[in-house]
Amino acid sequence: MSDIKTIEGVDVRGKRVIVRVDFNVPIKDGVVGDDTRIRAALPTIEYLVRGGAKVILMSHLGRPAGEGFEEKFTLAPAAARLAELIDAPVAFASDTVGEDARAKAAELADGAVLVLENLRFDKREKKNDPAFCEELASLAELYVNDAFGTAHRAHASTAGIASLLPAYAGFLLAGEVETLSGMLDAPKRPFVAILGGSKVSDKVGVIDALIDKADTIIIGGGMCFTFLLAQGKAVGTSLKEDDWVERAGEMIEKAQAAGVKLLLPVDVVAADAFAEDANALTCSVDAIPADMMGLDIGPETEKLYADAIAEGATVFWNGPMGVFEMKAFEHGTRAVAEAVAANKDAATIIGGGDSVAAVNKFSLADEMTFISTGGGASMELVEGKTLPGVAALR
Ligand code: ADP
Ligand code: MG
Repeated sequence: MSDIKTIEGVDVRGKRVIVRVDFNVPIKDGVVGDDTRIRAALPTIEYLVRGGAKVILMSHLGRPAGEGFEEKFTLAPAAARLAELIDAPVAFASDTVGEDARAKAAELADGAVLVLENLRFDKREKKNDPAFCEELASLAELYVNDAFGTAHRAHASTAGIASLLPAYAGFLLAGEVETLSGMLDAPKRPFVAILGGSKVSDKVGVIDALIDKADTIIIGGGMCFTFLLAQGKAVGTSLKEDDWVERAGEMIEKAQAAGVKLLLPVDVVAADAFAEDANALTCSVDAIPADMMGLDIGPETEKLYADAIAEGATVFWNGPMGVFEMKAFEHGTRAVAEAVAANKDAATIIGGGDSVAAVNKFSLADEMTFISTGGGASMELVEGKTLPGVAALR
């Protein structure tokens, strides 16, 4: 999977390099909130600037209609934030492949940076439209993809353009692919995978793929109740997916047959409502009250899981153990995050939007080996799918 060329060592001096970045950041009142995604692209941007390239950055932001400019989806605030982060001027084009973009791209000095307006203001972007690919490619001489977060989409800026210019991976994308592929292809063992989040149906592909690769699978979050149902337990009003009970049972059997340890909660925190101030109690998974829902794993389960995590030489975590957004039900997710952080002998890899948010919330990001920036893209990679944005760089 990691047989992709990075931009490292390529002579970029004086060349126009168009770079697909993921600047899909939250913006409020014209100001960028969390700028993690912009920061994640800095190694590639700064490398190109230092190398004397004329750097043209393109990204999508949000979900505009694709019928032209929409104020609330403009990338101008992201360009302004980038200028602060690199402490240098950043030019901004008020269109993507129009007159302003062409003029500003043409007049770029070596080492200067230009941000194009939102790719998705043009509906041809998501259609991977050949003419749009040509127009984007005509702005530059080299193409770099550093937008791992959109690598699972075959759009003009992530796929089509790559066949029109010499194409390379940026450092963020290359690091993601290398880390996640390395984990799957040659994990240090034991390989412990922790899976949680809300639904089994969202994650079947991931669970299935990891049963083939891991030595231990730990299940928590809302999805555990469908597994508990498959074991014949009653789960009260917990999140459950009746259509997936049989499939969950098959996965338990598959793990057993493969000699993979599959751990399920032994106790949970149950509540009488999906609310911060609900009445809650801790109970065994054999005694979940009929009128209550499990919103977190219990203390016995925390211990069981922490012990399993401590054994791992590779630990992958996707999906919170409970409704960590509510203080009353964050304890299990925090305990697992702490157990992962405490295993300093292991490669610890965190993937998934909410899991990463949880790790950040508990200020444990610096304790992990690798935090994936791609939600959907990392999950598809773990599932074993080919990412169009990565395939296009081969
Ligand atoms: P990720 O983004 O890390 O892949 P998911 O999106 O699959 O994770 O799941 C995260 C969501 O799962 C969180 O919003 C969390 O509140 C919810 N969740 C976790 N445990 C439960 C539970 N027991 N009942 C309902 N929702 C849950
Ligand atoms: Mg999520």
